This record gives sequence, C-alpha cells and structure tokens, in this order.
Amino acid sequence: MSILCLVDDKQIPLYRVMWVAATPHFCGEEDCVREGYYEIRLEQGESVWANQKERDDMIKMLEAWQGGEGLPEEEEDW
Ligand SMILES: [Zn+2]
Repeated sequence: MSILCLVDDKQIPLYRVMWVAATPHFCGEEDCVREGYYEIRLEQGESVWANQKERDDMIKMLEAWQGGEGLPEEEEDW
C-alpha cells in the first residue's frame, strides 16, 4: 500500500503525521479560510488542512499502515 495520503493537493507521507484533528477547525474569525477543515499536524510544526473526506481517508490509511508494514520497529528496548 502507499504511505502517501493526498491532502490539500499535497502528498503527505504517513510517517510525518503527528496527529489528526477530531473536530473541524473553528476560531470565530470572520475571514477564516480554514473553518470546517480538519488540521493534520506534521513534524516540524507544519500543518495541512483536510476536508472531511481527506481527513477520513487519512485516518483509514494511518490505521491500516500502523497495523502493517511501515517503519522498522527498532526501538523496542525501552
Ligand atoms: Zn481559523
């Protein structure tokens, strides 16, 4: 399977995702262009903004990816 997930026209590698917002963004600002979008936080303090379908796809891919092949689990001795 792919380890890339398309969000906001960007191919995001799953291993760069720190967390995915459970609820859509709302900050109350009138001209906010992110309202209703879900924040996907990446390493290095970056974020991308997903619509609901993209967010759902991302979560599905993360769940499938973590259960299967992915990064090698080398740090098991903690
Ligand atoms: Zn906002």
